Amino acid sequence: MEADVIVVGAGLAGLSTARRLAAGGHSVVVLEARDRVGGRTEGGELDGHPVELGGTWIGEGHTEMYRLVADLGLRTFPTYNDAGQLVVDLGGKQSRLAPHKGATPKISPAALIDLAQGLARYKKLAKGVDPAAPWAHPKAAELDGQTFESWIRRNLRTGTGRSYFRTLAEALYSADSSDLSLLHTLFYTASNGDLETLSATDKGAQKDRVVGGSVLVSQRLAETLDIRFGDPVMAVEQTESAVTATTRHGHVYTGRFIVVAIPPTLAGRLDYQPALPSWRDQLTQRVPAGTVSKCFATYPTPFWRDAGLNGQAISDTGPVKVTFDVSPPNGEIGILLGFVEGGEARRWQRLDASQRRSQVLGCFTRYYGPTAAEPVTYFEKDWGAEEFTRGCYGAGFGPGVWTSYGPVLREPVGLIHWAGAEYADEWSGYMEGAVRSGTDTATHLLSML
Ligand SMILES: Cc1cc2nc3c(=O)[nH]c(=O)nc-3n(C[C@H](O)[C@H](O)[C@H](O)COP(=O)(O)OP(=O)(O)OC[C@H]3O[C@@H](n4cnc5c(N)ncnc54)[C@H](O)[C@@H]3O)c2cc1C
Repeated sequence: MEADVIVVGAGLAGLSTARRLAAGGHSVVVLEARDRVGGRTEGGELDGHPVELGGTWIGEGHTEMYRLVADLGLRTFPTYNDAGQLVVDLGGKQSRLAPHKGATPKISPAALIDLAQGLARYKKLAKGVDPAAPWAHPKAAELDGQTFESWIRRNLRTGTGRSYFRTLAEALYSADSSDLSLLHTLFYTASNGDLETLSATDKGAQKDRVVGGSVLVSQRLAETLDIRFGDPVMAVEQTESAVTATTRHGHVYTGRFIVVAIPPTLAGRLDYQPALPSWRDQLTQRVPAGTVSKCFATYPTPFWRDAGLNGQAISDTGPVKVTFDVSPPNGEIGILLGFVEGGEARRWQRLDASQRRSQVLGCFTRYYGPTAAEPVTYFEKDWGAEEFTRGCYGAGFGPGVWTSYGPVLREPVGLIHWAGAEYADEWSGYMEGAVRSGTDTATHLLSML
């Protein structure tokens, strides 16, 4: 036995699992494919300033992340928000809105009413879904038997109303509305508070950033743990009393339990002996990761702030439909971040580098004027290209998955347990969900060790 527990993956979930188990006095070895910790959180540097290439913001209700940040001696700073207006670019019309409730975009009265009714209907539906058991909703079969897109077509009458909801699907799930089960989008909304919390900055999920970058949380968590880097686990074999992980480079680790803390679709690619039960394997075939690239442009100053803008834009015209100001805390230089997501990303990622850059800067220019066309540095990060992630932010469940496989999503298979942002019932898909899932799995194991 190398350890009481072997943990596969040194993302926030695996590290949180290991930390809780180690605090309980148990031996833990963490096996990580990459040569770094953090997984879907990764630190980058642009013009000498740290940026988050993956998971970025923490916000309302992310209590475990705020607690970790404080415990690990880190600090947060607020996303640039209130001091400027956001750009809303819908149906070919652009407006600038104060970033608080009640501000209305410049769209036709018919589209405005349509949007308001659609949002009210959607919010009411989401409130009725229990994120711990979405399959238990009295109308689960009906909600899970349709895509989000079918619901949009039935419930929104105007082109602008529909395209706003489609943009929401891209922004929140990095998938198209036609990829996702309606029940999944409702689950995710309920799991993350509500639609306002998900999409807002102040009092929402995009409220704060960690000074120096979110990856520092993983790096500090890792300091006291036994982690073996740069060698992916390929196979997991269990007997009645022990479980063995074999890596690409032929190392073998044995423990009393194993926690597979990698995205579920990647977990399905490991070679299990005995083979996984059909329900578990079938589940992992049905939980694809979203498609997203993050595109950054740096400028000598955050010039949009001088024009009364906060760097946030939402548009129904791509490829970049959502932007944020991710400049350093003191605003010493300006950094704009644009997301290219879902079907938009699937098309755009196949263009050559100069076409991609020109399309992204074209969007930035549409939102912030000609200065945006001349960045100091331009940089892209395609998460689908990452061998040990293969898409972000997380898994999007298509029709039928929650009702068929939801009840067994978190169920261990013998000595194999699971952890990760996708397994959380609260704050699913977020760093907060990853941490909570990791500590929950560890707490469960502590009761058995
Ligand atoms: C572009 C982007 C933007 C995001 N924005 C936000 C945000 O603003 N706020 C927020 O809260 N969340 C955000 N997220 C989501 C958040 O980053 C994730 O939910 C969270 O980091 C997932 O943590 P995890 O531990 O579950 O999984 P991961 O971080 O994926 O960790 C899994 C680990 O397992 C390793 N691994 C994979 N395969 C193997 C193998 N075979 N053997 C050994 N190791 C393996 C990986 O290298 C990785 O380190 C974003 C994600 C992305 C990519």
